[in-house]
Order: sequence, then C-alpha cells, then structure tokens
Amino acid sequence: MRDKLYINGEWVAPLEGGALPVINPATEEVFHYIPAGTAPDAEVAVAAARAAFDHGPWPRMTGVDRAKILRAMAEGIRSRLPELTRLEVMDNGKPIPEAEWDLTDAAGCFDFYAGLAEELDGEVEEIALADGRFTSKAVREPLGVAVAIVPWNYPLLMASWKVAPALAVGCTMILKPAETTSLTALELGVIADEAGLPKGVLNILSGKGSIVGQALIDHPLVDKVAFTGSGPVGSRIMAAGAKDIKRISLELGGKSPFIVFADSDIEKAVEWIMFGIFWNQGQVCSATSRVLVERSLYPALLERLVAETKKIRIGDGLEPGVLLGPLVNKGQYEDVKRHIARAVEQGATVACGGKRPEGFEKGYYLEPTILTDLPLDSGAWVEEIFGPVVCIRPFDTEEEAVRLANDSRLGLAAAVMSADDERCERVAAAFRAGIVWINCSQPTFTEAPWGGYKESGIGRELGRWGLDNYLETKQITRFTGKEPWAWYLKG
Ligand code: NAP
Ligand code: MG
Repeated sequence: MRDKLYINGEWVAPLEGGALPVINPATEEVFHYIPAGTAPDAEVAVAAARAAFDHGPWPRMTGVDRAKILRAMAEGIRSRLPELTRLEVMDNGKPIPEAEWDLTDAAGCFDFYAGLAEELDGEVEEIALADGRFTSKAVREPLGVAVAIVPWNYPLLMASWKVAPALAVGCTMILKPAETTSLTALELGVIADEAGLPKGVLNILSGKGSIVGQALIDHPLVDKVAFTGSGPVGSRIMAAGAKDIKRISLELGGKSPFIVFADSDIEKAVEWIMFGIFWNQGQVCSATSRVLVERSLYPALLERLVAETKKIRIGDGLEPGVLLGPLVNKGQYEDVKRHIARAVEQGATVACGGKRPEGFEKGYYLEPTILTDLPLDSGAWVEEIFGPVVCIRPFDTEEEAVRLANDSRLGLAAAVMSADDERCERVAAAFRAGIVWINCSQPTFTEAPWGGYKESGIGRELGRWGLDNYLETKQITRFTGKEPWAWYLKG
C-alpha cells in the first residue's frame, strides 16, 4: 500500500501528483517510490477527517473503546517490528538498534495514550463558585480536526507522539510525514485499518511540505496543527494559523548545552557527551551540541572524548555493530559539511572528524566531529547543525557556565553533570530550557513532558501534557437560585 495515499479508510492514488523517489542514504540508490499528494488530495483528506469528526463515531465513543483500538495499533507496530525496522533504516540511515528502539517506543506511546483515554471517561471538574446561586463544572472535549506535520529524524516515533494523543481524546487527523522518510508513516495506515480504526479518523498524505503541507496548514476546516521541524517552517505555520486562529503546537529544535563539572567521573562524562550528540547521527532536536567543561577537567576529558569518538564504527545501518550511519539525505549532508567549513573559517579547531570517512564511495557519511576554540558568536556555536558535530569549550565558574548555557535564542534541552547533587539541582533550576537532564543526556520517556522554551517551540508533547494539544475545555454553569434573577423583570 506504500504507493498510495490513505484517505477515508481507502488507499487512493494521488489526484494530480505523481510519485517521489525514496533514496537509501547508505547507498544513494532509489529503492522505493511514494505517492506525491498535492492540494486536491489535501482537500479530500480534510473533508474526510471533518466528516469523521462532525458525524462519525470516533469522538462519541467512550475512551475505553478508543483505547482498545489504540492498543491494537501498538500491537500492530510490535508484530511488524523486523519489517518496520528495516524500512526505517533504509529510509533514514539510522543503525538497526536505534530503529528498533524508536519503533518499540512508538508502540509504547500508543499503549500509554490508550491508558489515558480510559482515564478521560467521565472526567469532570466541579468548580466552587463564590456565588451560591450557580453551580459550575469543567469538561474536556476533543478539539476537532488536527494536522500533524513531522520531520525525518524519528519518522514513525514523531508521528506517534502526535497521532496517539490526538486519537486518544477523540480528534481526527491528517498526518503529513517528511518527504525523505514516509514509508513507516504510510505503513501506519495499514496498521490502523487492521486495528479497526473507523474511516476518516486517520488520513496519511505523503508529498512535498511546500505543496501538500502548505495546503493543509492553510485549510480553513483544520482546527489544529501540530508540528516538529525547523524554525522557519514553524513560523510559517503560526502565520498560516493566525488567519483563522488555529491551535498550534511547535517543536523546533535547539542548540542545547551540557555543563560538565570537574568532580564528574570522566568515563561517564565521555559516554553521555557522546550519546548526547552522536546518537541518530546527531540529527536530534534535543542533542547536547554545546558542551561546557570545567577548566581543570577539560584537557583530560577532551583527550578521552577524541579517542573514543574515533572508535565509533561507521557504516550502513543494516550492518550489525554499526553505531553511526549516514546522514538522512544529500541536502542534510551538504548542510552539515557547510557548517563545519564555516566553523573552520571562523577560527574553530577540528579536534577530530570533520570529513567523509575513508573507504566510503557512496552514501552520505560524515565522521563524528569535535570542534574546539569556537568564538561565542560563530555560526557553529550559535546555530543548530543537526549532525554529528559537537562544539566544546572550557569554563571557570558555575555562574559563567550557566550564563553561556542560557545565551541562546533556543531553549529545548540542557544537561548538567556533577558529583554534587545540590549543584545539579541549582543549575537545573537556572536553565532556561524545557527538558533538563542531570548526569545524563537524551533519555526520553513517554510519561514526561517534552517541549521547548524560547524559540524552540510552543506547547508540550508526551505525558498527560500531550493531551492538552488536542483538547478544548468547556465550562457548564447552571442557575440554581431560588429567587428570580430580576434584572429586567423586577416583578
Ligand atoms: P522542515 O523543512 O521544517 O520539515 C519538517 C516537516 O515540515 C516536513 O514534513 C516538511 O515536508 C514539512 N514542511 C516543509 N515546508 C512546509 C510548508 N510550507 N508547509 C507545511 N509543511 C511543510 O525541516 P527539514 O527541511 O526536514 O530539516 C531542516 C532543519 O530542520 C534541520 O536541519 C534541523 O535543523 C531542523 N529539524 C528539526 C527537527 C526537530 O526535531 N525539531 C527535526 C528535523 C529537522 P518535506 O519533508 O516534504 O519538506
Ligand atoms: Mg524539508
């Protein structure tokens, strides 16, 4: 079914668009084609999602019944794990263990929101009013038709972070995967169908963001857009939503700091710094790409970090034992190389990496890279690179480290490592970021809120906070007074 769009429970050919090639970044070969949805397909999909919301069973079912279908979707992902893993690796380039991890997490996300769907049933908050002639209560309702636009770094997982909570509360949805990685998202249509999701509740439109994505965010019958991706597209979505006051949630990446104090265990510091930037080829919105190390530890830590980084096994994600695959596509590969070249022009020292690894004729491979001596206003220190590139510098005082960490227009994540728990708590409180890790970097849990401060976004995904993106709150107030209101009719 991966060559058709999934609209209103049917697999249909795009009305006007043709097919887009899918390239394996490890080999640069086309191994698949996906359908290129355009504006007329968006029109049909929005109408289907609108009808399913306004007249269909989904928003009117109990949470307990919706949960059964969400759990079947979780099971559908799990039962296809080897097949989906292979697709995700060939589509995105990530090594097998990472793809397995992501897909298992995606299944867990459907299970988690199934649990919350059950709890939502009958959730009513009685409100104590000062005026005893009235009683009031607040209820929560699904907000309507939601669009999810997702990036290529965690293809099915980023889709699940949006689809699972939206469906849990009773919204209907149109999912637009990234053009570079649409295969597992399209497979979610097969899974939804098998799970018994009613027609039109989930619609999946692959195609170009600038065409089908734009048509979706501009559509007046869409109530909500949930987006993960770049800042410029995030701004465009807010602007499009401003016309008709769409609900918008955005997750736009970061330039996240990792402060390492000198009392840290050097081996643990090296491990978490590496995990913080090289996992998923560094194509991680929360990657801790700016590392600040207390000066007395800096030389020894840098030496260990360079030595371990050089040992990372690079290769096709399908090969067992590989820990760093190719970057996702040619554009991203060229972009990251440009960032490194500019960093060098601006005074950076390349402590290791910075180039294509030897022995690779094909594929978008780049060595894991450590940059030092960066001026604080250089592009590489300030801008998100979104590749396996870490910038590292020494600091002298806690105050300086926190100031440098917070000196960014972005504020998605931040990490701190120290043997001193009080210091960790103090620094965690001082960080201007939505996600803070102490003595680690990156572990992400479905139960905990995810999202950024400042220009890293608006709103929170995951946990019970993730439901707020798809709910409206309604107050229902009743007049119970014994005496007439007597404003106009004074008797
Ligand atoms: P992007 O352009 O923001 O793409 C994200 C999603 O938005 C894709 O599905 C894209 O579709 C869609 N899109 C693009 N233009 C659109 C429009 N006018 N209307 C509606 N949807 C639109 O990001 P990218 O080009 O893939 O990556 C560029 C940079 O974004 C990266 O280098 C990185 O800095 C950042 N990024 C951040 C995250 C994150 O997790 N926060 C993830 C990925 C990338 P197409 O794929 O068809 O263009
Ligand atoms: Mg793009």
